[in-house]
Amino acid sequence: MDTIFSKIIRREIPADIVFEDDQCLAFRDIAPQAPTHILIIPKKPIQRVALASAEDTPLLGHLLATAATIAKQMGIAESGFRLVINNGPNGGEAVPHLHVHLLGGRALNWPPG
Ligand code: AMP
Repeated sequence: MDTIFSKIIRREIPADIVFEDDQCLAFRDIAPQAPTHILIIPKKPIQRVALASAEDTPLLGHLLATAATIAKQMGIAESGFRLVINNGPNGGEAVPHLHVHLLGGRALNWPPG
């Protein structure tokens, strides 16, 4: 499925990219919900985590490891951060291209709304 995130990967629309490697891309969320709000996405167009296949397992791990690396680079690893993956309508998923939200820079409430 072609989404706005596919267009960002192909550089057809702009994004504030903070990290890229052969497997993933990370960029600032256009509507930040915290002082630091970055999306980490696989270049492979997996629609959502529930649709990832067994062969995607290393890639899923890579997304989390990359989020932790970016958190360190952004200086929020010590103060703390939250990783969020929204899946499906009740999960609040708006863009059907798997993405990990990295949120930090302020204290975050729990439970989420
Ligand atoms: P979700 O609700 O988990 O699907 O999250 C989708 C996220 O993508 C939201 O936080 C949006 O603000 C963000 N978003 C949508 N379009 C863009 C864009 N062009 N650049 C950066 N972030 C975007």
